Amino acid sequence: MAIDKPKKIALIVPVLNEGQGLPIFYEKVTEVLDKLVCYQWQIIFVDDGSEDNSWQIIQQLASIHPHISGLLLSRNFGKEVALTAGVEFVNEKADAVICIDADLQHPPELLPEILTQWEAGFEIVATVRESSVDYSLWKKLGSKLFYMLMSRFSDLDIPPHSTDYRLLDKKVVSVLCKFTERTRMFRGLTDWMGFNKTYLSFVAPARSTGVPMYSFNKLFHLAINSLTSFSLLPLRITGYLGLLIMLSAGILLGYMLFASIVLDMFYTHMAFFVVFNTLLMGVLLSGLGLVALYIGHIHTEVVQRPLYIIREAIQYTGVQKSE
Ligand code: UDP
Ligand code: MG
Repeated sequence: MAIDKPKKIALIVPVLNEGQGLPIFYEKVTEVLDKLVCYQWQIIFVDDGSEDNSWQIIQQLASIHPHISGLLLSRNFGKEVALTAGVEFVNEKADAVICIDADLQHPPELLPEILTQWEAGFEIVATVRESSVDYSLWKKLGSKLFYMLMSRFSDLDIPPHSTDYRLLDKKVVSVLCKFTERTRMFRGLTDWMGFNKTYLSFVAPARSTGVPMYSFNKLFHLAINSLTSFSLLPLRITGYLGLLIMLSAGILLGYMLFASIVLDMFYTHMAFFVVFNTLLMGVLLSGLGLVALYIGHIHTEVVQRPLYIIREAIQYTGVQKSE
């Protein structure tokens, strides 16, 4: 009987100033991985322009353990890009990749369960954070608002608090590597892609060491980027607002004209001027909205996201099987 070759799994770990915590991370992760003997592991640390000794530590770890690789980015590009770099580095060399944070806020203890789901046939095994100990009220509120806007106004269905801690099957990875858009939200893209997906939930512990690298500011930018790359609503809002203003000012102007001519009521010239001006403003804004529609089309063309993704195909061979 032929023995199945062990499946290759690559862990992708974005690292920004985590030098202090990396050895603990490695220790904790290997503790879990050592028990999963039927897989062949690889860990890829992507140093996203750290200013501490993270890269030296990665080099040290890689010199001792052959299954560790490291990528050093030339500057800080942000976690989304760091993850992309890792995924593109692995590409089809592994059967699945798992993205995991270096600060142990993504518990490695969940790895066996993630793999079980993958083996059960899910091509994306994503995770949802149930609660987190060290998130400020602002971060919590901001994330609530973001997920609310995202689920209402984009064609994506991202469950609240979904995280980047997720497994992507080889098929998903190879498609993801073909994406060329520059402004990207990693988990948004993988959610957009479809595929067979399941969610596991976990409670995020406090950071092992260091401070959160994602300030409120950075998260705000990420949220704006995600909203604008998955929804054209911000563009359309101006148009709708313009239409509303135009309509109400138009009706008001009509009524004023009617009242002053037929009902003999008196309005100052100023009043007419103000309402007429508001009407013009409405025309202008709806014009902008119209332009926005065109920009929307340009936007969709420019990001060059694949039009569709084929999960599987059955090729017609032309040979009929005999009974
Ligand atoms: N990170 C990164 N580049 C950045 C910011 C963060 O590679 O510009 C890494 C960081 O080292 C960590 C992970 O992304 O491994 C999550 O960062 P953080 O803990 O700051 O985010 P949070 O837990 O607040 O979502
Ligand atoms: Mg964290």
